Amino acid sequence: MKVGVPKEIKNHEYRVGLTPPSVAELVAAGHEVAVETGAGAGIDFDDEAYRAAGATILPDAPAVFAASEMIVKVKEPQASEIALLEPRHLLFTYLHLAADKPQAEGLMASGATCIAYETVTAPGGGLPLLKPMSEVAGRMSVQVGAHYLEKEQGGRGVLLGGVPGVAPAKVAILGGGVSGINAAQMAVGMRADVTIYDLNMSRLAELDMFFSSQIKTAYASKAAIAAAVKNAHLVIGAVLVPGAAAPKLVTREMLKTMKRGSVLVDIAIDQGGCFETSHATTHEDPVFEVDGVIHYCVANMPGAVARTSAFALNNATLPFALKLAGQGAEAAMRGDPHLAAGLNVSAGKIRHRAVAEALDLPF
Ligand code: NAD
Repeated sequence: MKVGVPKEIKNHEYRVGLTPPSVAELVAAGHEVAVETGAGAGIDFDDEAYRAAGATILPDAPAVFAASEMIVKVKEPQASEIALLEPRHLLFTYLHLAADKPQAEGLMASGATCIAYETVTAPGGGLPLLKPMSEVAGRMSVQVGAHYLEKEQGGRGVLLGGVPGVAPAKVAILGGGVSGINAAQMAVGMRADVTIYDLNMSRLAELDMFFSSQIKTAYASKAAIAAAVKNAHLVIGAVLVPGAAAPKLVTREMLKTMKRGSVLVDIAIDQGGCFETSHATTHEDPVFEVDGVIHYCVANMPGAVARTSAFALNNATLPFALKLAGQGAEAAMRGDPHLAAGLNVSAGKIRHRAVAEALDLPF
């Protein structure tokens, strides 16, 4: 199959749909890959690296779309990219259509087949193409939390791990799913005093087994969260209720009880955030303060570590890309119901029930 990789054009997006090692895998499987010049430049994959992997370098997005049957991207297509899509195209990327009717209508009008990373499922449950980004955000949350606890950043002036003779900082992680466990791994590694709060008792039991005495677990009752917030130096919001806005676990009242210079990192901000005082921020201006508490609420945390994130995303997407290129979309989806769950749009129609319901469009 002819596979195309345009340069991402969304503001501050440095990831790329296929890394050079992924291109090499596709080429080895007999496919042709066309990459837009400079597609990986933001994370130091130059055109030469792509040529060495077997790609052809093309001068712009129109040339890549014209030369390709399957387009592999990271972010949802922007208006200028939707205009390049035709019925013969297969688009494989994040779409997040449920909250974006103009994009959905554009993709329907294009006639292209569009498979969304975020709705592909896994045999054991879960969303395997979202998971790597939750891993990145979870691990990063502790790194940014430690940074903003520093005095010069407006923080309390506390070292996460303490030192011999000085107690470590208290870290409360709300939600012990993919991002929560990754946050806990980092916080434990930095020798913080870590407690994970969740409503799912079997998840708490798994975490208890996994970390043994390195962490504490607690049922996420309102009282437990209120006590946690009062005592913590760093609170990480990592909850998810699939398909719903994040529950507001930390109220304005609770915030008032927190220590001055303590830090909240709201990973769940892309679902509205789990702290009442959260609002989405950007990497350019990532934090704000309420009642002396620093809030970090960046909605696309993985963008800050775009090189790691591009590799992590490719590790998850490449097996599907190989399957789609090798068998064609129809046969690949017929043989793999989890990949088929990724189908959002084809032949002018929405093909994903939840997306259609969210957009109030026919399914
Ligand atoms: P997950 O489903 O793996 O884990 C969520 C956990 O929250 C589950 O264990 C669940 O039991 C728990 N939970 C649900 N309601 C709860 C409550 N009221 N109290 C305590 N625990 C509760 O989800 P995840 O993959 O870790 O994702 C978490 C959030 O992070 C999602 O909103 C996701 O979209 C977001 N995310 C954000 C970024 C970013 O850049 N900001 C990046 C990746 C993911």
